Amino acid sequence: MSGSIVFLGPPASGKGTQGRRLAEDLGLAYLSTGALLRREVRDGSSLGGRAKTYLDSGEYVPDEVMVPMVLEWVSRQASDWLLDGFPRTLRQAMVLDDELDVEVRAIILEVGEAELRRRVSGRLECVDCHRVAKAGEKELCVACGGRLVPREDDSVESFENRLAEYQRLVLPAIDYYRERERAVLVDGLAPPDVVYDRVLKAVAVDVVI
Ligand code: AMP
Repeated sequence: MSGSIVFLGPPASGKGTQGRRLAEDLGLAYLSTGALLRREVRDGSSLGGRAKTYLDSGEYVPDEVMVPMVLEWVSRQASDWLLDGFPRTLRQAMVLDDELDVEVRAIILEVGEAELRRRVSGRLECVDCHRVAKAGEKELCVACGGRLVPREDDSVESFENRLAEYQRLVLPAIDYYRERERAVLVDGLAPPDVVYDRVLKAVAVDVVI
């Protein structure tokens, strides 16, 4: 399989873990829009300043900010790519199609709400490479040695907002891909290696609904 991919899923569904691994294995350029925004906030950039309130509350950053940012990143890539966390609205999905020559395929990780709530409490992310820590990893990231910290938007209130935003805004984007037979649904309720096997099977198939 080749071609560019978008990876969607509710908060804590594992899209960062799975998307990053798939991008590495397929040689795709990788962008997590959430990680990029968290880095901008941490660096105190003007983009970070605009994004911070949204991230803290668990609301989505407006399309007017996200769309140019991602299109600019895509335009700089020499290879196919994988986007983790974009598109997150119908408009983002449509703009991506309108602006690109290729039709991306969407992988959607499905995990029930009870499991999402369980996963989000206590998860850690590296402040430097933004990898999500594996079970048993503590304090320092095994990949880059950065500090492992909880995400600020993993608070209960912010998490519930992100879940509500997902249902309100991302589900229509998923429908957009499903209607065009470009969506692959993957059951994300299993240990990471098992889910990854499913992801690999999913991308090997041309189109599955
Ligand atoms: P994530 O790391 O993918 O869970 O994203 C964390 C947060 O970044 C989200 O809750 C949003 O506030 C923001 N964000 C990331 N990607 C997008 C996007 N495509 N559109 C709007 N907001 C986004």
